[in-house]
Amino acid sequence: MSNLVIAVDGPAGAGKSTIAKIIAEKLNINYIDTGAMYRAITYKCLEKNIDINNEDEVTKVAKDTEIDFKDNNIYLDGQVLTDEIRTIEVSNNVSNVAKIKDVRYLMVDVQREIGKKNSVILDGRDIGSYVFPNADYKFFLVATPEERGKRRHIELIKKGYDITLDEIIKDIVRRDEIDSNREFAPLVKAEDAIEIDTTGKSINDVVNSVLSKINV
Ligand code: C5P
Repeated sequence: MSNLVIAVDGPAGAGKSTIAKIIAEKLNINYIDTGAMYRAITYKCLEKNIDINNEDEVTKVAKDTEIDFKDNNIYLDGQVLTDEIRTIEVSNNVSNVAKIKDVRYLMVDVQREIGKKNSVILDGRDIGSYVFPNADYKFFLVATPEERGKRRHIELIKKGYDITLDEIIKDIVRRDEIDSNREFAPLVKAEDAIEIDTTGKSINDVVNSVLSKINV
């Protein structure tokens, strides 16, 4: 049997990673957080004091970087990454890194290689529309900016960050704007994707909606 590929796209904070992780466990397939890849490159550039607006420099960093996934964790040049890629600073800069075409080519190559060899659920912005146009299943999760902001806020406060709900809503709206308007592989719902509005829904409800569409 060929590999199963499930694409989960949507704007920031729509619940994609939470849902994709649970589905991966239930179906016993790999989970790839493609946003973490763009965050990892952004983190590395910030650490090296690279100007994020210098596309050539950022691309050079991306070319010299090895990104792997093991047991659903992301590794940057052999080092596991966790909270360091979820900081406000990385969030503020990641969309400007992700709009660089050559950086995207590099990340997409890694994603396609993984999908070739494994059954996988990937969450991102362009998985169903660009990375895997022939994915077996495509989902597009949405929710109001207020709801998405509230979820992120709870997450970040739990981790000890001092940030207001308003700042978070501004960040996700600004990222969605850059992600939706970039020239190459923008955030867009694939024509054949199933849209699920997660506003006011429990995690369980959304997981069940997704699972009800999947025949394995
Ligand atoms: O999913 P997450 O919010 O962590 O993604 C961080 C950023 O990475 C997004 O705002 C977007 O700029 C970029 N991204 C992307 N394409 C993907 C996944 C994420 O451009 N497939």
